[in-house]
Amino acid sequence: MKIRVGFGFDVHKLVEGRELWLGGIRLEHTHGLLGHSDADVLIHAICDALLGAANMRDIGYHFPDNSEEFHNIDSKILLVKTIELIATKGYKVGNIDATVCAERPKLKAHIPAMQECLARVMGIDLDDVSIKATTTEKLGFTGREEGISAYATVLVEKK
Ligand SMILES: [Zn+2]
Repeated sequence: MKIRVGFGFDVHKLVEGRELWLGGIRLEHTHGLLGHSDADVLIHAICDALLGAANMRDIGYHFPDNSEEFHNIDSKILLVKTIELIATKGYKVGNIDATVCAERPKLKAHIPAMQECLARVMGIDLDDVSIKATTTEKLGFTGREEGISAYATVLVEKK
């Protein structure tokens, strides 16, 4: 069996008047993430990590942000499409380890729901999806609540 590693990173700006979608679920918050899609920064980082592991460019290459097809799209659909893309090269997800950096809202209580959602969408075991949340100690753009960032590392396998 061949295994490969991939890494992804994404940032979206927090603005008023948008829903906050993170890890495939909607969170109650005063602000939401701005983007062409639903701006689910965690899913985008995971998609980029998966594409990187398969050496298949990046999320913007496959799902351009000037395409009407992807306007306000549910990022879970992009995640399914990404799983299908890496499958064309024979890869399937081994495990995922991700970190979300956000000052607010507090994410701790929502992590299990995100894990459950993403495992279901990707068709993998719950135990293969790790999501961690951190603040940046009020430093930088995440600390000032101007945006949320996410990092993801994935392992993919090919029989
Ligand atoms: Zn994004």
